[in-house]
Amino acid sequence: MTKKFRPKCVQFDRQMAFTSTGFVVPCCWIDSPGGRKDATLKQFYQKDMHIDNFDSVDDIIDSPLYKDWFDMLVNKPELAPNYCKHFCSTTSLDKHPTKTSLSTEQVDFDRVIVAKWGEKYNSWHVNNLKFMLDNYSGIKYNNFVVFEKDTFGNMYNKLEIFNDYKDGTNLYLDLDMVIYDKLPNLVRKDFTLMYDWWREEHHTPLNSSMVSWTGDISHIYKKFVDNKEYYLKKYPTSIDEFYYHEIEYKTFDKVCYSIKEHEYDKEPMKGFGLCTFGQMQHLLEDGWSGWWSKYLNS
Ligand code: SF4
Repeated sequence: MTKKFRPKCVQFDRQMAFTSTGFVVPCCWIDSPGGRKDATLKQFYQKDMHIDNFDSVDDIIDSPLYKDWFDMLVNKPELAPNYCKHFCSTTSLDKHPTKTSLSTEQVDFDRVIVAKWGEKYNSWHVNNLKFMLDNYSGIKYNNFVVFEKDTFGNMYNKLEIFNDYKDGTNLYLDLDMVIYDKLPNLVRKDFTLMYDWWREEHHTPLNSSMVSWTGDISHIYKKFVDNKEYYLKKYPTSIDEFYYHEIEYKTFDKVCYSIKEHEYDKEPMKGFGLCTFGQMQHLLEDGWSGWWSKYLNS
């Protein structure tokens, strides 16, 4: 498979970085031991490029070093450091792998819902999930909902979704899921979530990174709010433990796997189209790469 170099600082909106030692470098990947050692990139760390020698960041970007740098990336990208080629190359001819065409047999969800509150996830994560859903999953849906209510200040916020959406077919997805291939029919009548088949059972075998239901399941929300203090004390760290012990549920078959212990795989696991990055969501951030990189929205 051929690799194509696409410098993200030029073709996309990757931002410059300001190092703790007082240098402005082309992006945060350069702010690393590898970047400082590279014959070309180490020029950004020369004494005369220190911010003390400039009046503004604009002056730094106007410097000959930066002008030459961007000129090279635009006009002679083949001269870019290998260090950059490592981070900014994709393995597909186009930016992304082959997209899944929508099948007319595919069932629809009335809603696909994601939740975003606090600072853990931002609009990139939302756009990225929607991008993967639209391009690889084959799922058709009527509405994409970003749920942002932060009533409880913790993961129990998710329960309010059940109280707000009491009709139709619904699919909830955590923002740290990576969708990379067509998904099976995920529509379920009853409250259905995943089970962690990939690990030893701890306090709960359940995983609510993906939940499907039809119609009104607000009884789950009501049960929690009616005795909120009790449940928060009993299951302080895991909403899945609350589901496991207090709620009737069904589980999906093996429709997803976990990136844990697969972070160095060259390709995603065959037979799935979905991988959870739960507790390893940092792998989706800038500076990390792996098989999943080519599926993400830039
Ligand atoms: S790795 Fe190099 S080419 Fe890629 S965004 Fe950073 S500076 Fe630009």
